[in-house]
This record gives sequence, C-alpha cells and structure tokens, in this order.
Amino acid sequence: MTGTFFPQPIFEGAEKRLELDFELACRSVEEVMVVESADSDSEASCGLRTLKEAEWNKLLQPAECCIVSSKSNGYCDAYLLSESSLFVYESRVVLKTCGRTKILDAVPGIVSAALENQQIGLKLRRAKYSRSAFKCPEQQPEPHTNFSLEVEALNGLFGHLKGGGHAYVLGDQVSNALWHVYTAGQVQEMIMESRIAKEDLMTLEICMTGLDSKYCEQFTCDANSNLKGTKKKLRTESGIEKMLGSQEAIDDYVFDPCGYSLNSVKGETLVTIHITPEDSFSYASIEVCGIKRSEDFDSNAFVQLVADLFKPQSLYVVATCDGFASALEWCDCKLGHSEPGAGSGQMFEKLFSANQVMTRYGNCAFHAFASDGVREEFGSGNMAAKLDKPPFSPITVLREDGMSFSDSSSSGSSEEAQRDETLLPLSESDMDTNFVKRVRADTIETSNCVERYAGCKIRELGLEDTFYVFDLGNVYRRMKTWQRLLPRVKPFYAVKCNPDPGVLSTLASLGTGFDCASQMELESVLSLGVSPDSVVYANACKRPSDLRHMRQTGTLLTTFDSESELLKIKQYHPSAQVVLRIRADDPNARCYLGNKYGAETYEVEHLLRKTIELGLNLVGVSFHVGSGASDPEAFRMAIGLARQVFNAALALGITTMDLLDIGGGFSGGTGDGTEALGKVARVIRASLDKHFGEEGRYRIIAEPGRYFSEGACSLFTCVYGKRRREEKMEYWLTDGLYGSMNCVIYDHAKLAPKPFFLKSSAPVEDLDLYSSTLFGPTCDGLDTVLKDVMMPRLDNGDWIIFPAMGAYTISAASNFNGISACDPQIFYVVSKTE
Ligand SMILES: *Cc1c(COP(=O)(O)O)cnc(C)c1O
Repeated sequence: MTGTFFPQPIFEGAEKRLELDFELACRSVEEVMVVESADSDSEASCGLRTLKEAEWNKLLQPAECCIVSSKSNGYCDAYLLSESSLFVYESRVVLKTCGRTKILDAVPGIVSAALENQQIGLKLRRAKYSRSAFKCPEQQPEPHTNFSLEVEALNGLFGHLKGGGHAYVLGDQVSNALWHVYTAGQVQEMIMESRIAKEDLMTLEICMTGLDSKYCEQFTCDANSNLKGTKKKLRTESGIEKMLGSQEAIDDYVFDPCGYSLNSVKGETLVTIHITPEDSFSYASIEVCGIKRSEDFDSNAFVQLVADLFKPQSLYVVATCDGFASALEWCDCKLGHSEPGAGSGQMFEKLFSANQVMTRYGNCAFHAFASDGVREEFGSGNMAAKLDKPPFSPITVLREDGMSFSDSSSSGSSEEAQRDETLLPLSESDMDTNFVKRVRADTIETSNCVERYAGCKIRELGLEDTFYVFDLGNVYRRMKTWQRLLPRVKPFYAVKCNPDPGVLSTLASLGTGFDCASQMELESVLSLGVSPDSVVYANACKRPSDLRHMRQTGTLLTTFDSESELLKIKQYHPSAQVVLRIRADDPNARCYLGNKYGAETYEVEHLLRKTIELGLNLVGVSFHVGSGASDPEAFRMAIGLARQVFNAALALGITTMDLLDIGGGFSGGTGDGTEALGKVARVIRASLDKHFGEEGRYRIIAEPGRYFSEGACSLFTCVYGKRRREEKMEYWLTDGLYGSMNCVIYDHAKLAPKPFFLKSSAPVEDLDLYSSTLFGPTCDGLDTVLKDVMMPRLDNGDWIIFPAMGAYTISAASNFNGISACDPQIFYVVSKTE
C-alpha cells in the first residue's frame, strides 16, 4: 500500500538508505566483543536475527513496504522488499527503500523491538542515513521533501546517541548531483582508541540514471505478466552474474510489469541491485556492502563493468569506510580515463570527486560522471519540467497535515481558487486535523463547499470522467457524534462498506476499531498500523485460509453461528476469541441479513455447549439488525435477546463472556450524524442500561459501516452522450450500474441526481425540466441508472452530482466492459463544519 491513490507518473527509484548498528544493552565494550565473536560461530539465530519474517513485516509497515522474499546465510537474513531491500545481521540492520516510502517511520519499532525483546536486548549504538538527490522531491512524504527537514527528523530519532548527529551534503548544488549523509553515534570506543580492533569494512554504492533502454528491456514482463525467460537466464544475459561473481545465496525478483531487484550474500558481504527500467525515469542502484579492506576487490574494475552494462547518462559512485582506512584511496574511480575496451565504447567524463571525513564515523568519497555530451540529465528539478504534464496539479500538492490549501508550489489556476472565498481556510483552526493521515486533503469551509471545490477541480484539471470528493471532516464529526451519543460503544468500522485508504486511515487515527471479513480487508487495516486487537473478524463463516491468516496476524476476535464454524476454528485457529452471532433482525431493513446469518434461539444452547466441549474461548454475543435498518425497536429486542444468551451461558458455567457486539445497521445520510443516530442511540442506551448496566463489566462494540462513510462521499459523473426520443431526453453518464451505481441493485439505494456545472449560464432553478433517462456507460441495456427523472436540458460535458454515495458503491464496482470503475479518481477535503 504505497500511496497508490495519487497519480504517480514518476517512480522515484533513488533509495533512502539506513544503517543501524546495535550493541548489547548494559554491557561493557569488552563483553560485546566477546559476545560478537562467539555469535558468529554459532548456527542458531541470535540478536536481531531472532526476529523472523512476520515480525519484520510488521516493523516495516510504518515505512509502507513489505517483504516479497528472503534468503539467509550464516551471517545475515536478506529480505527483498516491495520497495528495495532489508538485510538483518545479528547486531546490524541495513534498510533501503525507494519510491515514496517513509523509511524513518520504521525506526522506533525496530529500535524498541531490539531492546525490548528478551532474547535480543540490543540498544542502538550508531545510525547512518544516506541518499542521492530525488528526481521529484516534492512528491516525497515529509520529512523527505528536503534534507534539512530530514536532518531535523533524524536528530529527533538519533541525536541522543553518544557522539551526536552530523549531516553532510557532498557534490554540486547547481546540477543537483548530490549525496546526502547523516550520521549519529560513533565507532566503538575501544576501536577508536586502538584503531586496530576490527578490520575496516568498505561499501561501494553506484547509482545511475538515464539507462540504456535496450538493456533495460530485459527487466520487463511480457503482456501476460510472465518473465521472458528464467531468472537464471536473465542474470546471465544481462551480465548481472558477472557482477556478482560467486555468491552464496541469490534471491531476485522481476516485478510486473517491470523492475528488478536482487539480493545476494556471501559471508558478511552483501550485494543488492535495484533497477527501475521505465524510460522516462530509469534508475539503477548497485551496492556491495561489507567488503574487508584487505580483500582483493578491484573497485575501479567493478564500476567500469557496471557502467559498460547500463550505459547510463549519469553515474554516481560512493565509497564508504566505516573505520579509518581512506575510502578515496580504496576507490579513486578512474572510470573516465579508462579505455572503452570490450564495453560499449561509451566515454564518461568525471565531473568531480568529493571526500568527506565524518565525525567519529569513518569517511566517504563521492564521484560523479556523465556520459559524454549528456550532462543535463543530472538534477532533479529539470526532470519534472521535462514531462508534458506536472506530476499532479499544483492545487493537490498539499501538505500531509491536510490544512494548507495554498501550497508554495501552487500557481496560476490555484490562485483563482484562492480568490474564491469559500475555499479559503479559516485563519484560526477550531479543529485539530491531525487525524488526516496518508492522504493529502484540502481544507474547505463547510461541507456545502464540496460542489464548488469539485467545480474548481473540473476546470483546473479538465476532468471528464467520474470522480469522488471525500469529506474527511464529515467522518470526523460523525465520530464526535458517535462518542457523544453512544459513549459506551466502541465503533469497529465495517471495511466492506468503503475500503478507501483515506477513510480507513482517518478512522484509524480517530481510534475506531475495524470489522474485517477477508484477508485483503484485514491486510489493508493492519498495514495502517492498526493493532490486531482492534479488529473483529465479523464474518460468521470463514474460509480455512481466512482463519490461517487470522492466526498468522495475531487477530483473535471472530464471530460464528454454526457448529461447523466452531470445528473449523478449532482446527485452524484454536486460540481465537469467539463471539456467538445470534439472529435478531429488523425485517424491514434495507439489506436483510437474517436469511443468511445468526443462530436461531433454539440453536443457542447447543452451540454454547459445543464451545465448552471444544475448549474454545467464548467471549461474547453479536448480532446485526440488517443494513439500513429503519426500526430502533430492532436494537431493543436484539439487546434483550443477547442478555438471554449471556444468562444461558452463565447457567452452563461459562464465565468468560464480557463482549457485546451490537453490529451495524445505523443510518448514513448527510449531516453530522446526530439525525442518523439520535433516535436509535436513545433506544440502545436504555437497553444497555437495563441489560448490561454494570459499569466496567462489559465491553460493548458496534460495527457501523454506512453511518461513517455514506454521507462523506459525493460522486460526480459527466454527461458524454445524449439523445431525444419524442418528449423524453436520454443521457449517457460516465458511471453506471456496473460501477458505483451498483448500489441501486445490491444496496437498494435511491439515487438523488443533481445537475451541476452546466455549460448553460442560467441558474439551474430557472431551467425547464424534462423527463429524462440516465444510462451508464456499459453496452448493456440493464445499465440504466434512472428512468423518468426530471432534469434540465443537459449537454455533453455537463455534470451530475450524486450526493451521499460513500456506502456500498466503489467497494462493489466492477470493470465490466473494460470501463474501469473500481478506482475512480478521489479528491479528499476536510470541511470545518457541516
Ligand atoms: C456489512 C456489515 C456491517 C456494516 O453494516 P452497516 O449497515 O453498513 O452499518 C457490520 N457488520 C457485519 C457483520 C456486516 O456484514
């Protein structure tokens, strides 16, 4: 889940690299040395290697990357990541992540895992962060947008280490051929004093842009997402094998549709290669790390080999020594002067070399080359300018905190938006918008400004296809309303209702739990950093793989309503906390569920006995009155029924029950939720007081879906075809029953279309209305959104708004007929009031 909800025309190949060295907590240096040498002989994993793949995956979540495969040798566990690589030694971690990853967000977790795990007990000794220049720094998440912000963040994380933090920028500022390094902490004191205790280890990093496109073609999949040959063949033919020499463990991965990553280890030395082959932003990095100074390694020959293969337009070489040997001497990089030889014949000009001795931390040398004639390829700034379109419109280039509508980089068209006074943010914030995470959101004054905002977007971006505006301010106010009206009930948002990452992350930071029913839903929630304790797997009939996945992720709470489900749980996830779902439904609900889920009263006793017999941990009772329930009395009956189940369980000697889950079924609609919840909340509070009154004795949760997401999302569709049939008008819209309007079929939704942003200049109220039919875009007669609605005369390019379209719309859309309706463009806003 790496920011795929924004247009990302450029992939940032350049990696952020973090190296963390640890030492045993509360031991003297001498002991550390003894332990370190003892460790390398033993076969069993020690130190950080005690942590296994699943744990690392969790630790990497905040950085927004995950493990795709792994290989190990006696020294190191090497993980290939969705974005680059992770190497774990007993007391050292090397983490490289590319794209828009948030590498620093993973640090606190790793550091505390190292210290707090009883079997590890390591504390951080020193840290090093480095990177080259980004092509599009403005697309990076903070603090990576510029180095000073990064240094501030790094000092926050590492500044306390003995020796303090230091930051260096090497290279040419004008052409943006730069290398950034931050270090904190120091070489072990004993080594510093004696200068001989440990052999210096060298690292060679090569970064290249403007790669030879013929060469890059090898690292793409064919149209069927298949590799063109075997990976072994690819390694041989691409010359990568030659680069590796004899390695012990090779692990490589070809991404679909393109991209290549490789890890390999030999002894303590690691090699890692990452290739982003796309022509307009090609990038490759090659690192050899942990080479002993005394080892026979010809760094110049290695660089020449790499340069001949990739034929890059620009090439950086960074040599680093973690001790006292000179990195510059070890790698003086004569590349520019060597003869073309058997290679491409491409000549490289050395632009400059820089040498940096780092305070108490070794030293590094930085060399920059350009292939003859092409030097402007260097530099991040020009890159974006060279593209036809800016990466995304200035107005959406807004800060992560979601508060600033006017960004320093905005220009032209966004000034127009700023003059539009309803769009200006309040000078004083009466609302803490820190809850907006992971997505960029523009601030608007009231929820009524959504239409205006959409109008600006249409004009500014020339939109012509379906899009949504999600008002996260509305989600926020609905949470406040919930807490006010149902203070005893903790909401667990039903992900299926709308799994949009902006909605999920907003709810997560407002402190809701989540109701998941599949592996994908659970993954998307956990990847936000939500604890498995805040998840109820409220699918009463799970597939074996779902149960295994629950178990793997440490998710415990789940519902059941049959004996067969209990047997499955016993088999696949015996430590689960099970919740008996009973049938207690409102027969008038918009979506009736009682036919499929919920144990009948006469089945309850048998199921209770079965949980005892199987030794399962029964923790409570749940129900769902049906989605879009209309009668608050359904909750009164259901809570009463749940009490009877608690009593029956007690009579059987079950004393473990403390959870009541009152399910979903709350109304959506527009507004801050007071209207939706008011009446039903009163009934629920009274019933809870009556049946579950004992303060502190019960955990009460609910699984609202519609309540949180329906009103927050407005759908905008464009008219792109029209016809007149006698007195009636017919229009074609960019969205239909196979897209978001599937809610007409599955969710019995009543749509309320509103013409909007018409080309006609007359006020909408004054226009004559005609009976109209609205068609969806697929070639199916069924795809008729509405018939005989009264509409003013519309033109191609006019728009229609469908408000309150956040529930059961996108989540069930399909791409039928090749019309992609599953991931429409989404704009996030935060309105300050309704
Ligand atoms: C769909 C569903 C919900 C959400 O229902 P809403 O009516 O959207 O609140 C809650 N719990 C379960 C088990 C569901 O299947």
